[in-house]
Amino acid sequence: MADLPAVPGNNTPDASPPMHQPTTNALGFAKGFGLTFATMFKKVYTEQYPFDFYPTKARYHGRHVLNRHPDGLEKCVGCELCAWACPADAIYVEGADNTAEERYSPGERYGAIYQINYLRCIFCGLCIEACPTRSLTMSNEYELALDNREELIYTKEQLMAPLLPGMEAPPHPMRLGDSEKDYYTVESQAPLQQGAAQSTANVAGKPITGHAIEVGRHHG
Ligand code: SF4
Ligand code: SF4
Repeated sequence: MADLPAVPGNNTPDASPPMHQPTTNALGFAKGFGLTFATMFKKVYTEQYPFDFYPTKARYHGRHVLNRHPDGLEKCVGCELCAWACPADAIYVEGADNTAEERYSPGERYGAIYQINYLRCIFCGLCIEACPTRSLTMSNEYELALDNREELIYTKEQLMAPLLPGMEAPPHPMRLGDSEKDYYTVESQAPLQQGAAQSTANVAGKPITGHAIEVGRHHG
């Protein structure tokens, strides 16, 4: 078998230096220590939480809120779409039928049992994207640490938005019109705006701080 032609430079040690040689000269040391010393004498910025409370960014994903229509009826229709969308299996919903005598939401169904397990929730927001009525939104409240596991399963009563002025606690008849559709017009949702301040506590006594995200708003 004939020898292959020699390739110039092949089989010879690579004479070129490595791409990144550690800098060992005095200038390098000076630059490195200079940065260290400059940092040492900078003013330290420490947030004194929990003594000082700092607001989050406006669209921070904090604890959830179950919102109400302007007359106080609940927006949740018990459809369970939020629970199906949740990747952490953190939501449990049981729907029930409204009756003429006992109405909690416009339309046929309402969320009778609603729980969010904050031991599981990763605050991804997929549940609020799935909600067809904009019942479920997230506030920017982040103070959710507790010293026991049981209380981190929030119930419907804890998650319900507080009654704002002009709202009436359900059950009660539909006040915004004869039809369920009357609850999904821009006009009927106008009193509650994006970023409106939440009241200090809901009926279960759980404080809701900060401003609501998309409270009272609906798709389109
Ligand atoms: S924010 Fe994410 S993890 Fe938490 S309940 Fe919603 S979908 Fe589940
Ligand atoms: S919060 Fe929204 S998605 Fe979840 S059950 Fe109620 S209406 Fe359906």
